[in-house]
Amino acid sequence: GATDMDCEVLVLGGGPGGYSAAFRAADLGLKVVLVERYATLGGVCLNVGCIPSKALLHVAAVMDEVAHLKAAGIDFGAPQVDLDRLRSHKDKVIGKLTGGLAQMAKMRKVTVLRGVGQFVGSHHLQVEETTGDGQEKTGSKQVVQFQRAIIAAGSQAVRLPFLPEDPRVVDSTGALALKEIPKRMLVLGGGIIGLEMGTVYSTLGARLDVVEMMDGLMQGADRDLVKVWQKMNQHRFDRIMLNTRTVGAEATPEGIRVSFAPAQEGGEAPEPQVYDLVLQAVGRSPNGKKIGAEAAGVAVTERGFIDVDVQMRTNAPHIFAIGDIVGQPMLAHKAVHEAHVAAEVIAGELQGNKELASAAFNARVIPSVAYTDPEVAWVGLTEDQAKAQGIKVKKGLFPWTASGRAIANGRDEGFTKLLFDDSPEAGSGDGHAGRGHGKILGGGMVGTHAGDMIGEIALAIEMGADSVDIGKTIHPHPTLGESIGMAAEVAHGSCTDVP
Ligand code: FAD
Repeated sequence: GATDMDCEVLVLGGGPGGYSAAFRAADLGLKVVLVERYATLGGVCLNVGCIPSKALLHVAAVMDEVAHLKAAGIDFGAPQVDLDRLRSHKDKVIGKLTGGLAQMAKMRKVTVLRGVGQFVGSHHLQVEETTGDGQEKTGSKQVVQFQRAIIAAGSQAVRLPFLPEDPRVVDSTGALALKEIPKRMLVLGGGIIGLEMGTVYSTLGARLDVVEMMDGLMQGADRDLVKVWQKMNQHRFDRIMLNTRTVGAEATPEGIRVSFAPAQEGGEAPEPQVYDLVLQAVGRSPNGKKIGAEAAGVAVTERGFIDVDVQMRTNAPHIFAIGDIVGQPMLAHKAVHEAHVAAEVIAGELQGNKELASAAFNARVIPSVAYTDPEVAWVGLTEDQAKAQGIKVKKGLFPWTASGRAIANGRDEGFTKLLFDDSPEAGSGDGHAGRGHGKILGGGMVGTHAGDMIGEIALAIEMGADSVDIGKTIHPHPTLGESIGMAAEVAHGSCTDVP
């Protein structure tokens, strides 16, 4: 059809990737159209991901903390949970943020088109208007012509084919809807999303089982970190089923009856169990196959990802892609940084600005956080990876039993661990040559607020800091963040015990 609107940059998808790209492009002076099918901007992260989960996890953490206070002589009695008010609290949190995004789009004169976008040509996207809070189509269509496009269409939860269509089987979005608190809940998949939601439901009263194909929960994190989390969370679980596959499920009046099999031959699997709620948290799949990419000449992989180069450019030179749709890790902070790169490259090319046009995504590390209680956070090289790759590292580990603040908080179960390059070449050529200490390669923390502190380790890695740099940086006392300086001193060998 004819073109109804044109722009310099078309952004498909209004999540953290999409709105960040649109805002940066507009700030750089470009005419931007942002297409989003839902009523609000913010994508998965703000509407059904990072933010609502953290609103609920905060409530759960305070409830758990209050229980810890019993030991300090403070007793609050049993909590009274009003799910309706908790739900509306969470919705208010989301509303503040998505409302803020709408304002910011307006201020920047970003045109937001509400509808489902499909590429219909190399420079054309058709938008079919949607309405309501879901995706009901109004039938009204328009075609937007663009010079450059940024695909930020994100991902959605993987659905296991053998699970029945039943309100008692949910994905993370269904779990965040917080319809009711089940007595018995199965968390299917022992990754971050499943364990975060499991934490919320368990604090609100559910008994948990978790089933995981691999040999441990929270894959990707070092086992010593996970062990601390697991010890503190054992009480939530009736069963932690590792090396176990879920093979069938049946809706019965009593609940969802789920059967299991060993992940490897020769293993043993538990008896079938009946649950009031089954949360599928077995991963997310990219939306690459649902946007008409072929019409624009953009290649999509078998699994629905879109491959990009370091400038976030797809195989079609005028089309870029960012966020969950370009691959792991599927994290909001990765999407935002990729978004800025794509917007800058486009602005640079359209405006003849060589410096902007050469922008590239070259982050050394991307931190990961499980916002459980305690939190588990890690960044860069892990100890397991160092072992597997034969990289020689010097470890500085600081147990929080030696942290004044952690003890004062009544939460000294955590620790902070830093890994420094200990290869023969390490330590030469930087400011502290000759002391035998290489640059920091990675770090991990488990403990309350670990996620708020891991950014410092990421900064140290980005700046090529060594143990002297970190150890001699004065951290305020008494804080949990001090443990990072202390861990560096432990690695450096100048301090073995602590005030
Ligand atoms: P999305 O956020 O998926 O946004 C894509 C948008 O595009 C959506 O709004 C979608 O409606 C729209 N869209 C797609 N196709 C079309 C189309 N054809 N037409 C119009 N619109 C379309 N990450 C973190 O970093 N920290 C966390 O704590 C965290 N917690 C999470 C908790 C949960 C429960 C979940 C599910 C995820 C969590 N994540 C977290 C991951 C995070 O939400 C994603 O990495 C992030 O949202 C990806 O951003 P994105 O812009 O790539 O895509």
